[in-house]
Amino acid sequence: MGDSPRFNLRIPGPTPLPPSVRQALSRQMISHRGAEFRILFREVTERLRALFQTEGDVLLLTASGTGGMEACVVNTISPGDKVLVVSIGVFGDRFAQIAAAFGAQVVKLGFPLGCAAQPEAILQALHSNPDCRVLFVTHNETSTGVTNDIKEIAAAVRSLGERTPLLVVDAISSLGAIELPMDEWGCDIVLTASQKAWMSPPGLAMVGLNERAWTYVKQAKAPRFYFDFGLARRYAAEDATPFTPAVSVLYGLHQALALMMEEGLPHIYERHRRLARMLRAGLRDLGLRIVAEDEERASNTVTAFYTPAGVNGEELLEALAREHGLFLAEGQGGLKGKALRIAHMGYVSEKDIAEVLAALRSSLQTDAGAR
Ligand SMILES: *Cc1c(COP(=O)(O)O)cnc(C)c1O
Repeated sequence: MGDSPRFNLRIPGPTPLPPSVRQALSRQMISHRGAEFRILFREVTERLRALFQTEGDVLLLTASGTGGMEACVVNTISPGDKVLVVSIGVFGDRFAQIAAAFGAQVVKLGFPLGCAAQPEAILQALHSNPDCRVLFVTHNETSTGVTNDIKEIAAAVRSLGERTPLLVVDAISSLGAIELPMDEWGCDIVLTASQKAWMSPPGLAMVGLNERAWTYVKQAKAPRFYFDFGLARRYAAEDATPFTPAVSVLYGLHQALALMMEEGLPHIYERHRRLARMLRAGLRDLGLRIVAEDEERASNTVTAFYTPAGVNGEELLEALAREHGLFLAEGQGGLKGKALRIAHMGYVSEKDIAEVLAALRSSLQTDAGAR
């Protein structure tokens, strides 16, 4: 059914795949300890370093995004460490849950739904908790469609000088679509996942680390085995992974990265910006209210909108799928039952957005007519 022309998958991962990526995925398996794999691994890693805009390392982990989050926690903390988690929604909360599960003393700084984190408030929290060793923050909150200003946040945090905590950024639903030059902005760890903006299937978490991050990895005492960054780095030096990697996903990612390098980051960012603006304008034309409070901080990869009064979100989702082959995502966390989400990251064009708007217009009209 995914091959039918009337099929528009607009959930925030997995996202649709370009034809050439799907073709790459169908390749026969190779030995993950052989020469061919080493070339594949090296090229993927080199392309990722270019797109992460880092001179540091990029590690490939066979895991979903949450696995990557857990890896970032266990490799940077020791039980009892105080950490600051900035949360503007479900995925910020998840970092707090994982850090707590591994024994961190979590200070959580939350912001109202639909709002971005305020850099001054983060700085204030760090002044009140000068012993925070790590700061976890979400770049793009997929549950609300809000993008944090990491440039400003990183600058605020770095003003602390020697007491600057390690800055770990969950860019799972933004990297490769929304600007985040890791080294230039001073992020120590940035993580993402293959099934979001990377036009690849689920299965790989990608983690960028600078030298400062490695000093933390060496000191961290949280229990870890599969997700040991030190081990992954030793194997990566030989263009290999410690355990069996998701070989097919690497085939797909290798091709997707070639497409991304060809398009170029500036064009990719601009395309996402343009399509997101087009979508938000179209939703407003339909009388729908966008969850992101501030247009400046509205996400270029995912848009959440409130279901209008009198409309059952679940029924609307079903009608869109049945009548238009359009698949949107439901609201999460505090927005469950109140909002729906539309993803527009990776392999997405103006035509896809136009189809989303046309389908919504049609289903909302039918729905209104039925009442
Ligand atoms: C999707 C997502 C995650 C979780 O990724 P999974 O692959 O579902 O484990 C975490 N953080 C953000 C911001 C995400 O968008």
